[in-house]
Amino acid sequence: MNIGFIGIGKMGEPMSNRILEAGYSLIVHDLKKDAAIPLLKKGAKWGNTPKEIAESCQVVFSSLPTPQSVEEVVYGDNGLRMGWKDGDIYVDMSTNSPSIIRKIAEDAKTMGVTVLDPPVSGGTKGAETGTLTIMVGGDPDSINKIEGVLRIMGQKIFPVGDVGCGNVAKLVNNMISLACNSISAEGFVLGVKGGIHPQVLWEIISVSTGNNWCMQQYPNTTFKGNFEPGFRVGLACKDIGLALDLGKENAVPLPVGLAVQQDLNDTMTAGFTDKGVDAVILPPEKATGVTVRLPEG
Ligand code: NAD
Repeated sequence: MNIGFIGIGKMGEPMSNRILEAGYSLIVHDLKKDAAIPLLKKGAKWGNTPKEIAESCQVVFSSLPTPQSVEEVVYGDNGLRMGWKDGDIYVDMSTNSPSIIRKIAEDAKTMGVTVLDPPVSGGTKGAETGTLTIMVGGDPDSINKIEGVLRIMGQKIFPVGDVGCGNVAKLVNNMISLACNSISAEGFVLGVKGGIHPQVLWEIISVSTGNNWCMQQYPNTTFKGNFEPGFRVGLACKDIGLALDLGKENAVPLPVGLAVQQDLNDTMTAGFTDKGVDAVILPPEKATGVTVRLPEG
């Protein structure tokens, strides 16, 4: 089976690399051909456009930054839609708007094409090691057909309902996770300013009720002053915006979500859009004159 993969970024590169290494025949595309060179060297083929990929593959995956980029890949001049054939499956693994992926699915159905939305959690490390959590919305028979490929990327696969529900689950997860990220940064600045050593504070919270996944990344990120992405602040801001939109569509107030959005906006305004999401700590560090770092070694 020929498999297509569009969006060879921080997540798409290691995910498609695993599919290639599992022995599938892979055709890839990205706005930047350079991003695909390591895969091409290993035997992947290059598709000049999404249309070309759709014409030669029955199953096409994508991992794209925004809902707009997904729409561009589907509906652009040489988009997937121009090359879709009856029976094709389109699997968008981006963190996307549930309503946009539902609209695409409805349209695709008129051409006999099934759309699934399995966004992922677990970061670039999870993508490299094939340990992503995958929450997938859409037709169960089509999920069965592609499950073998999903398993190359992650063993924790959760069917969550109709198409769009994958992204509902993902946006809820990210809203909670980004709230933990922001409040951990605030808490550590407060603790250090209040006189506690960051390592001691981390050890206490690691075995207390404030423990969370984001804070567990600190030994490799904040404590070292390493704010390279990983997961960019700009993408996190996109995700919280999508979660707040979902709240509006469903008349669910999200006051904490709004505060997290403000925190991420402030971090972008301070110039850290392309840093890793742990960089939310940099503005409060600057404002208070403390740094939450550990000496090397
Ligand atoms: P990225 O910006 O590193 O990669 C996106 C890739 O898509 C880039 O190579 C870009 O050139 C390409 N692209 C953009 N528009 C395109 C278009 N119109 N046609 C073809 N290619 C296009 O982003 P990423 O970090 O890999 O994230 C991808 C998706 O996965 C996002 O939706 C993100 O929210 C989600 N995600 C990211 C992480 C993470 O830790 N980075 C974790 C979970 C989920």
